[in-house]
Amino acid sequence: MKSLEELNTLKIKSVAKYYICPNNRIELIEALKFAKDKGVKLFILGNGSNLIFSKDFYQDVLFLNTKGLKKILLNDGTLFCEAGVLGKDLINFSIKNGLSGFEFLTGIPGTVGGFVKMNSGAFGKEMKDIVKSVDVIDLYTFNYDKIAAKDILFEYRGALNLKSFIILGAKLSFKCEDPSLIKMRVADIAKSRALKQPLLNNCGSVFKNGKGYFAGKLIEDAGLKGFSIGGASVSKKHANFIINRGDAVGSDVVKLINYIQEKIFTIFKVKLEREVYIF
Ligand SMILES: Cc1cc2nc3c(=O)[nH]c(=O)nc-3n(C[C@H](O)[C@H](O)[C@H](O)COP(=O)(O)OP(=O)(O)OC[C@H]3O[C@@H](n4cnc5c(N)ncnc54)[C@H](O)[C@@H]3O)c2cc1C
Repeated sequence: MKSLEELNTLKIKSVAKYYICPNNRIELIEALKFAKDKGVKLFILGNGSNLIFSKDFYQDVLFLNTKGLKKILLNDGTLFCEAGVLGKDLINFSIKNGLSGFEFLTGIPGTVGGFVKMNSGAFGKEMKDIVKSVDVIDLYTFNYDKIAAKDILFEYRGALNLKSFIILGAKLSFKCEDPSLIKMRVADIAKSRALKQPLLNNCGSVFKNGKGYFAGKLIEDAGLKGFSIGGASVSKKHANFIINRGDAVGSDVVKLINYIQEKIFTIFKVKLEREVYIF
């Protein structure tokens, strides 16, 4: 049994019967074989910053945490990050080594694997702009592959053809720059995020923005800032964020999401599409 509470940034209390955090590719393959032999589903977990656990207990799922894969390798001008590397560790590494290009990831509390899978982005830049290739394992055949960036179908907050793979790591592009300049940009972004968004006990933007609208603006205009169901509330700081006030269960968050979608459709005739993944 493993508590998932510390493994999702929304801090939903949930428990998994099967859990593993492999430290290398061999252990990872063993975990995939275990799931297959047991006939249980597999859920790949990064830092849990784009997830809502809707159930209190998962009986038939192996949660595979990628955070044991945490090497950052810089060799002959090539940077390879394993999937479990946290954004903040990549940014610290980039400052230390004078590598620019990752500043836009400041304050996004995910892993490199999650960033690639979600094509994470901010401030006009997305992962698709810096990924050169990704190393993957096919979830069905267990074969390794390297997929060049040009062959990845990145879309807004997603990568269409990576669904049947576990991402092992990514080769990323960068520019060499004075560390003090990178540090300054990172600090500016961190400051701007802290002013506009809640930083704790949330799962990032709940809905995608659409053509001609910002989801947060619609939710705010509908008067839903601060609106709560159970322990889940629409953030008063930014309406596209849902906060766990401490005692939210997954179903509170799901009910709140459904309520917001219905309300926004009734008022504005807009169908808000979820960015966050409900499991
Ligand atoms: C405060 C806050 C601010 C945020 N700001 C932004 C932002 O500005 N821009 C933005 O784009 N997002 C933002 N997010 C959302 C989130 O951080 C990103 O979507 C991030 O990429 C998720 O990474 P993760 O490692 O936490 O993935 P998880 O939440 O653990 O997983 C997300 C999805 O990716 C899959 N996945 C994770 N790792 C792998 C892997 N190695 N191989 C295959 N599949 C994998 C999971 O199965 C799941 O489907 C924010 C979140 C928070 C809490």
